[in-house]
Amino acid sequence: MLKNYLLTPGPTPIPPRVLETMARPIIHHRTPEFQKVIQEVEEDLKYVYQTKNEVLIFAASGTGAMEGSIINLLSPGDKALVVRGGKFGERFGDICQAYGIEFTALDVEWGKAADPKKIDEILKKDKKIKAVYATLCETSTGVSTDIEAVSKVVKNYEAVLVVDAISGLAAIPIKTDEWGVDVVVSGSQKGLMIPPGLAFVSVSPKAWALIEKSTLPKYYFDFKAYRKALAKTDTPFTPAINLMIALKEALKIIKEEGLEAIFERHNKMALAVRSAVKAMGLELFAPDAYSDGVTAVKVPQGIDGEKLVKTMRDKYGVGIAGGQDEMKGKIFRIATMGYITASDLVVCFAILEIVLNDMGYKFQLGSGVRALEETLK
Ligand SMILES: *Cc1c(COP(=O)(O)O)cnc(C)c1O
Repeated sequence: MLKNYLLTPGPTPIPPRVLETMARPIIHHRTPEFQKVIQEVEEDLKYVYQTKNEVLIFAASGTGAMEGSIINLLSPGDKALVVRGGKFGERFGDICQAYGIEFTALDVEWGKAADPKKIDEILKKDKKIKAVYATLCETSTGVSTDIEAVSKVVKNYEAVLVVDAISGLAAIPIKTDEWGVDVVVSGSQKGLMIPPGLAFVSVSPKAWALIEKSTLPKYYFDFKAYRKALAKTDTPFTPAINLMIALKEALKIIKEEGLEAIFERHNKMALAVRSAVKAMGLELFAPDAYSDGVTAVKVPQGIDGEKLVKTMRDKYGVGIAGGQDEMKGKIFRIATMGYITASDLVVCFAILEIVLNDMGYKFQLGSGVRALEETLK
């Protein structure tokens, strides 16, 4: 028999209060009852985004909104600047390529964060760049980028700043308006604690001006259609009704705790993870730029990283994430976002110790759990 624990950076576990809403009979979306859902979700998303800008909602995974942020802002002949320091930064480049948009890549070593000065240098030289694409929390490496500093740079140029906050939102701070981030992309299955299937973008007035001029082909993700519908508390297509109702409940939970308390809790949990990792003699993959939403850890010499993740999951029911692409087998990742709590971490580290010990890694049994408790207490 297995009891399952999920500590992956998406999907994340779902609070029972939210699960319960999804068991209710479906309602029709062109009704006053659903309009109330749209209204509440919109208002509370603005709270989480820390913005007065409209937040558009799509029935899609997060990548849909990433694609939307390229096809709505750019036109043939425009250039983009893409910060690539992991799998998700690379995805922005892949989407540009799919639409024939030329881009300059700022390639950052995996495990490191982008230097805003380098963005400044590129923008200074190339006036054809209309949009800068960066990632708040690069989930594939556990790196957090200083978006406030990036924003200070981009603000001086005609280009807009687009930030992928899919795994960062509601886990680590992103002050959309205060920092002046033009477009913030997010998704439902990470910090927002609901299943995959919803994607979001907030859009600033500066970005809307660019959208007005954009001529790349678009239909399902046409931001203007969503804005027009939202003005009438409506959606252009059938929304993911049950996910919207689930989101309404999840956002209520978030508001009850409050953003500042949520960030503090995530910080404390991630701090505990980092100290537990070090106490076990393991190394952080991103020691200079770690994120409080997900921690990447180097797989120690002589240990099969893929087998470690698989054994934790299949033998003990504890789901953590392995490395992706070039980091496959070389790192494992423990998420501390959304409905992942201190008690999950205690279980996770106890099982991690059992499995690593079993695989022959030499360390003091209990050292990780002890450090975890010392930090969490
Ligand atoms: C999860 C994630 C994505 C991809 O989102 P999907 O919902 O799988 O499309 C993109 N960027 C980041 C940073 C993510 O964590």
